[in-house]
Amino acid sequence: MKASFVQKIVVLGTGGTIAGLSVGPQERGQYRAGELSIERIWGQVNGVGLEPHFDVDVHQVCQIDSKDMAHAHWHLLLAHLQTAMADPAVRGILITHGTDTLEETAFLLSWLLPHDKPVVLTGAMRAWDAPDSDGRQNLQDAWAVLQRLIARSMGGVRVVMAGEVHPAGSVQKMHAQSLHAFESEAPMPLSRLTQDPPTSPQSLGSGQFEAPRSVEDVWPYVRPSLAQVLAHPQWPRVEVVMSHAGVEPAGVVLALVEQLERERELGLGREAAPATPRLAPLRGLVVSGTGSGTWAESLREPLLSLMSLGVTVVLTSRVPWGHEGLSGHPLPGPKTPTLASGLTTSAHSAHSPGGAQWSQLSPVKARIALALHLLASQEATA
Ligand code: ASP
Repeated sequence: MKASFVQKIVVLGTGGTIAGLSVGPQERGQYRAGELSIERIWGQVNGVGLEPHFDVDVHQVCQIDSKDMAHAHWHLLLAHLQTAMADPAVRGILITHGTDTLEETAFLLSWLLPHDKPVVLTGAMRAWDAPDSDGRQNLQDAWAVLQRLIARSMGGVRVVMAGEVHPAGSVQKMHAQSLHAFESEAPMPLSRLTQDPPTSPQSLGSGQFEAPRSVEDVWPYVRPSLAQVLAHPQWPRVEVVMSHAGVEPAGVVLALVEQLERERELGLGREAAPATPRLAPLRGLVVSGTGSGTWAESLREPLLSLMSLGVTVVLTSRVPWGHEGLSGHPLPGPKTPTLASGLTTSAHSAHSPGGAQWSQLSPVKARIALALHLLASQEATA
């Protein structure tokens, strides 16, 4: 008798417009995100293109509008993913998510999860019950892509939206209303896939499932393991500020400097969580710079002050594409703590040349990268 081996796919729901319901017939287009459970949604597409050898486990991780995604929700999601990754019966994972912070969650997962199992995220720009809803089609596409990735033994994190597969590293929401809201530097169109039966081997050429860009290419610094992140519900505090026309020298960055100086005067150490103010001490700052990673000269002095107070600064560009090959506008500073803190990855030197460090990542992704880097560094020096 043949031994039977159950193969499972895990479906995780987090809310968003894909789980949204219209407010009422009077308010056209108005809806509330995160209303329908993932069990209800899945129940309506279940079985579409499901290969017979798969069982499906469906879990509601949270039920939110993803604009409110917090570290605590990510921890819940990561805990589910850790379990799924460790279960040999699980072959792949599908996640439904609001579109507002989809790219941040996708990026986080692409950094932390082992690459041996595929993870596909999808969402929708219209509520589930809207006449022009895109939720069902996106879910079916995501499901078909996931099964193909499993069939090809390809792991990694991808986003499927509007008939395209996007790599988690570069995908961004670029339109506030269009069904075609997401772009990335290398989207892979799915038009043939949505027409063909999902099991058709010729639905997609193998080139269309290229492995996403390696994390080390965009961030050659230390980052924590999934277990380390799960052990730290509090992330190091990292803020994002934007360089723009008319930026005030005495604006947000100076306010951050003054706050840190006040904390120092009050004797609040960097490790101690202060009773007042309620905020944890600032550990990192991402500058969403202009064009090729430049920033207004008026930011120079306050940024150097922050760095001399021990804050790690990462410079990025607010322009979405074309970061490759840039090295950013340097911000030298004699007392600058580098990103490296003496830590190295095996493949790359983690030593930065001094001054704030340029990153090709988008500002919101750089915030995640820097916070996780600081978390790993604090672990290593503890
Ligand atoms: N505000 C919604 C969310 O991100 C938008 C969407 O899902 O399209 O949850």
